[in-house]
Amino acid sequence: MTGTPLLRARNVRKRFGHTEVLKGVDLDVYPGEVVVLLGPSGSGKSTFLRSVNMLESIDGGAITVAGELVGYERRGSRLHKLPDRKVARARRHVGMVFQHFNLFPHRTVLGNVVEAPIGVLREPRAEVTDRARELLAKVGLADKADAYPRQLSGGQQQRVAIARALAMRPRLMLFDEPTSALDPELVGEVLGTMRDLAAEGLTMLVVTHEVAFAREVADRVVFLDGGVVVESGAPADVLDNPSNPRTRAFLSRFL
Ligand code: ADP
Ligand code: MG
Repeated sequence: MTGTPLLRARNVRKRFGHTEVLKGVDLDVYPGEVVVLLGPSGSGKSTFLRSVNMLESIDGGAITVAGELVGYERRGSRLHKLPDRKVARARRHVGMVFQHFNLFPHRTVLGNVVEAPIGVLREPRAEVTDRARELLAKVGLADKADAYPRQLSGGQQQRVAIARALAMRPRLMLFDEPTSALDPELVGEVLGTMRDLAAEGLTMLVVTHEVAFAREVADRVVFLDGGVVVESGAPADVLDNPSNPRTRAFLSRFL
């Protein structure tokens, strides 16, 4: 890829206590690209995504999104660690969808989707509501705007979570195993929504074990193991012809 990456991670290090979980991760995601991040449980995938979204602070290296250093702000010519009260606003360029959807149970579907643009970005309610309805239509839930999360299936709730993240108009979307808490028959509808978003040109970094999705939708597959990127390339190369023995061992469980 050429041009400037939307997400650029260099030598990212993170430790919990004495355990170093990220040991120098380098990863770029270019505008419009879909990158699938694969790796065994405990390899640091969630920690990496959470670092990009400022849910974790890193101990070394640098992450930039759209050229801005994540977790820092410029005052004059100096960089300062971002104060907590500014994190929510700073996070708006990065949307994140989790394994567990974490919708607000006492708000309607529409209420969940409009909450952050109104509460965090202070955008006008009428405008946000129009946008939220469009997003709900896009994820196939136009008729569920007034329902409560408990009235929806897991797949529908996850699609609301996707609409909620998109309502902030992020430049980059992070997905952390978005289908792994779903009953098997509901996985397809969520992957279908993600496929539509990819086709529209949304920039996405997706942690998933859905190898078929990676093969079909990803522009690039990155394999993380032991806190470092051990392999990165076109899906066909990484999935069908991995050069790294650890990638091969991992994939043999899915194929
Ligand atoms: P993955 O998503 O690839 O399964 P994680 O990023 O969740 O991996 O975890 C990587 C390692 O970091 C694991 O060993 C996990 O136990 C540890 N870890 C993750 N979060 C924390 C935390 N908040 N405190 C301590 N250890 C953590
Ligand atoms: Mg994880």
